[in-house]
Amino acid sequence: MRLILLGPPGAGKGTQAKLLTDKLGVPQVSTGDILRQALADGTELGRKAKSFMEQGALVPDEVVIGIIEERLRKSDCARGYILDGFPRTLPQAEALSRALRSLSAALDKVLSVEVPEEDLIRRLAGRRVCRDCGYMFHVDAHPPGESGVCDKCGGALYQRDDDKEETIRHRLRVYREQTQPLIAHYDKMGLLRRIDGRGAIEEISQRIHHALGRA
Ligand code: AMP
Repeated sequence: MRLILLGPPGAGKGTQAKLLTDKLGVPQVSTGDILRQALADGTELGRKAKSFMEQGALVPDEVVIGIIEERLRKSDCARGYILDGFPRTLPQAEALSRALRSLSAALDKVLSVEVPEEDLIRRLAGRRVCRDCGYMFHVDAHPPGESGVCDKCGGALYQRDDDKEETIRHRLRVYREQTQPLIAHYDKMGLLRRIDGRGAIEEISQRIHHALGRA
């Protein structure tokens, strides 16, 4: 199964992608995670991406397209994957279509996870992420058992630099201007399913399974 999870920052794409990974047995491919790892490792890619990410701007298309082309050729992607945070622009979507054609593969569905903007700001500003396993918590909605410590692996929790309020507002503007047009693009292709992204994680997961014809 080849899926795209489309949606604004804070819509819960990462959380749902992780749940789907377990259920479908295909990897989550998150350009944001790949870029953050490159930043942490201090690689050439990390250096290229750093200033864009810190400002909440998009990393140039050719950089992320290169990452995805390389990632999708890996053997764990042979049976499918869940794209989380890619594509984010029309040129990225077109590059993905070309990459799929060259691998004789096709997308199964594109899920647009939809959440009102005021909820997104609240969600993102309270988000805390485990430095070791990437698991996400929320200071109000899903707090860890012990403050600042991951329930899953005991790692330290931190707030992403780009989850500060001013940067969040900028990221939402970038989403509206550059990524939202992809909804109409995939709708025209007959691949789009809209998912109400409000409510509990499990409820949203049920809606996704229903949209995939698996509920
Ligand atoms: P995310 O974790 O998906 O919110 O991504 C965090 C940041 O990484 C974004 O704000 C961008 O700076 C960068 N990024 C991730 N995916 C992409 C993409 N497909 N295109 C451009 N920039 C990206």
